[in-house]
Amino acid sequence: MAKSYKNTCINEFDRSAISAEKALSKILLAIKGSQIHEKVSLKNSLGRISSENVISKINIPTFKNSAMDGYAINTKSLSSKNDFCLKEVGVSYAGRPYLNKLNKGETIKVMTGAVIPKNADAVIMKEMTKQLNGLIKFPEKIKSGQNVRYIGEDIKKLSTVIPKGKELNFIDLGIMSSIGIQNIKVIKKPVIAFFSTGDELTQVGKKLKEGEIYDSNRYLLHGLLSELPVEIKDMGVVKDNKKKLKEKFMNASKKSNFIITTGGVSVGEADYVRDILNEIGRIDFWKISIKPGRPLAFGKIKNSYFFGLPGNPVSTVITFQLFVLPAIEKMLNKNKRNYLFINAITKSTIIKKKGRMEYQRAKLIKSKNKYFVETTGLQGSNILTSLAAANCYIRLAANTSKVNKGDYVEVLPFTNKF
Ligand code: AMP
Ligand code: MG
Repeated sequence: MAKSYKNTCINEFDRSAISAEKALSKILLAIKGSQIHEKVSLKNSLGRISSENVISKINIPTFKNSAMDGYAINTKSLSSKNDFCLKEVGVSYAGRPYLNKLNKGETIKVMTGAVIPKNADAVIMKEMTKQLNGLIKFPEKIKSGQNVRYIGEDIKKLSTVIPKGKELNFIDLGIMSSIGIQNIKVIKKPVIAFFSTGDELTQVGKKLKEGEIYDSNRYLLHGLLSELPVEIKDMGVVKDNKKKLKEKFMNASKKSNFIITTGGVSVGEADYVRDILNEIGRIDFWKISIKPGRPLAFGKIKNSYFFGLPGNPVSTVITFQLFVLPAIEKMLNKNKRNYLFINAITKSTIIKKKGRMEYQRAKLIKSKNKYFVETTGLQGSNILTSLAAANCYIRLAANTSKVNKGDYVEVLPFTNKF
């Protein structure tokens, strides 16, 4: 006989709840990659997403040069013991080359980065040589190729140095400048509008009345979005009032690619948002079997994608990271990131209810060559301080109910750029 299930947030086994993977795949299927590009200067490209394959027109190094301060020699002309004393016939400085070939019995002094003669094939460190009767005496163990930087050994002409879809970091700026690139084509910044909803919310700077709280979600979102190549439009706070909410949604949809709201999507309360979205767009409400962050609304208003995130601050953060971030990255045509999970030993026993996948706030440490992890305190979705104290999430599977002290758990560090 089929069991009856109540679809409320109290019930961990909620049949109408969908998995995080399913919700994400629905979201990613709906979102179209942007086709709007712009050329930006090298410095302005930091953190942006490349929308072209950057191909090098030159070899790096472009000329054979020295990796050391020392003496350039042609090992092929060293046949007898006497040949290890050579006459210094010139100097090659970085940017001021010595242009002749080396004749038998000759060496030149070379600086790091200086061109070495076409027929030179090794550089001997200055410290390994001696002055002897006006000549330079070399050690007898010399290998062809030592301390020589060859043409194209770093970057080959016509090779792709930056693939389309890459988030450009300081190393890419270094690489692009090394091949003489001044401007790069990137995806234009999508506009993200966001606002908080709730009668209880007060702006920072104002005095709190009984039952009121300060709006922290807008600041969390501001921080999360500021790290992305997007333009952010903070649209303030709106009360739980249908007319005001509708106006705000209409306004937000005029100038944005994404609209993010927080609060007002839990069971019962969601009706306002549902009604408005049904009038001016389309909407799906999902209960997702994760903790924190069960209720999530996703839809479209005119040309803007809409995310209604739950109001509790930690839920806002986690649902942003799990669903909004990949959605924005899809619009940016950004290459999929690889999340690096680490297996770590839990320092205490963790008890949870079966039914939802949990992301617990925790601290990862390394001790005696092993990784250990410990939760950072209360795990309620309103407890921001345990998120502040954390440097990782412990991810516990839906069907787990207990992890014993000393067992391995799956950990996702916060700094995770691979
Ligand atoms: P809701 O999703 O609107 O039912 O809100 C769930 C919980 O999150 C309630 O305790 C709200 O007071 C709280 N909350 C909602 N919005 C915010 C916000 N912007 N900043 C801080 N807490 C909030
Ligand atoms: Mg509310």
